[in-house]
Amino acid sequence: MQTLDKFNFAGKKAFVRVDFNVPLDENMNITDDTRMRAALPTLKKILADGGSIIIGSHLGRPKGREDKFSLKHIVKHLSELLGQPVKFVDDCQGDAVKKAAAELKAGEVLVLENLRFYAEEEGKPRGLAEDAGDEEKAAAKKAVKASQKEFTKHLAELADAYVNDAFGTAHRAHASTALIADCFAPENKMFGYLMQKEVEAVEKVMKNPVRPVTAIIGGSKVSSKITIIENLLSKVDNLIICGGMAYTFAKAMGGKVGTSLCEDDMLETAINIMNKAKELNVNLVLPTDCVIADSFSNDAKTSTCKNNEIPDGWMGLDLGPESAKVLANVIKSSKTILWNGPAGVFEFPNFEAGSRAIAQAIVEATAAGAFSLIGGGDSVACINKFGFADKVSYVSTGGGALLECIEGRELPGIKAIRG
Ligand code: AMP
Repeated sequence: MQTLDKFNFAGKKAFVRVDFNVPLDENMNITDDTRMRAALPTLKKILADGGSIIIGSHLGRPKGREDKFSLKHIVKHLSELLGQPVKFVDDCQGDAVKKAAAELKAGEVLVLENLRFYAEEEGKPRGLAEDAGDEEKAAAKKAVKASQKEFTKHLAELADAYVNDAFGTAHRAHASTALIADCFAPENKMFGYLMQKEVEAVEKVMKNPVRPVTAIIGGSKVSSKITIIENLLSKVDNLIICGGMAYTFAKAMGGKVGTSLCEDDMLETAINIMNKAKELNVNLVLPTDCVIADSFSNDAKTSTCKNNEIPDGWMGLDLGPESAKVLANVIKSSKTILWNGPAGVFEFPNFEAGSRAIAQAIVEATAAGAFSLIGGGDSVACINKFGFADKVSYVSTGGGALLECIEGRELPGIKAIRG
């Protein structure tokens, strides 16, 4: 497989798919440029080789051309980050784009307009009436799929090489994230550095990990994590289930959970997971105690009790001290750790202690040589809140994409390059 390090971009034009889907305030100022910074090593390598760059990205979820989703808003900041001027063309299709790309000189950077201004990027029809019939929907889908080929070919023809550095959208089979790769020979398509790091981190956990392996799955709902849990059961030594999900397990075992988060339609699923864990010899670790509150509020009255003896009118919002200790010990005895989903309502300072204890244990295990991967939405916010992001092995930038990897799916953006 081609790699960024092996490829010499001198005199070549690279189409680089990045994830510049950054948050903007009402004055169109970038409020968090993490995603832009994450792509800099790739962009700098291409420029240092003497190549030129055509940047493609999406921003937000536009329904067509919408000024607030224009990538023109990120150009000035990208230019500051790269320390050089950056060109912008207010389209991603057509003659003006072809001309701007053709005129690009070695060492120059051109940003294309938001790829999702065109329905062809996602390959999903737009503007269908709500009461459109199945036939109409099928015809619209067929039409957009047909024009998607032209759209993709147009993007590919702008460049000599294709670099995908957008891990955050690697789980989408879109024109610029996956389909475009087919237009390039194997030696001319590759991952960017960010994508490469993400893929390596996931594989360290999911393929031949150093044992013992511990996955910590928290968050709110069993239903949203069921595929992940099922896939992990055949891979891990310890599976810690915490957060709001744990109360569904407590109730499934006949416990009293008060007004805690609980999915009654998942009780049987919880029992099946416990049986499967036993069958596979996986140590399934559930919290035994919790911090309870008399309302869903940081200022609620609190107490501590067993996870399966929560009084009526009270809800479990965090791990209790006993569970925090037990879970931390399991984590500290691990050599590979995956954490997805907080252990409590960490957004409320009074209910963050359990998630903090988990984060602290991961930091200690990492310092002792374990590999730790944190990812998928709220656990990233959690590790950042506690200031531990640089004390774990890897914090993933891809929410949905990482979750799909843990579910065991092959991401279209990865497959398109690997073949
Ligand atoms: P998820 O998106 O499923 O990973 O869930 C993350 C959310 O779960 C966070 O916003 C947490 O506040 C929430 N959460 C964690 N533990 C609990 C709990 N015991 N009760 C209610 N919400 C919880």
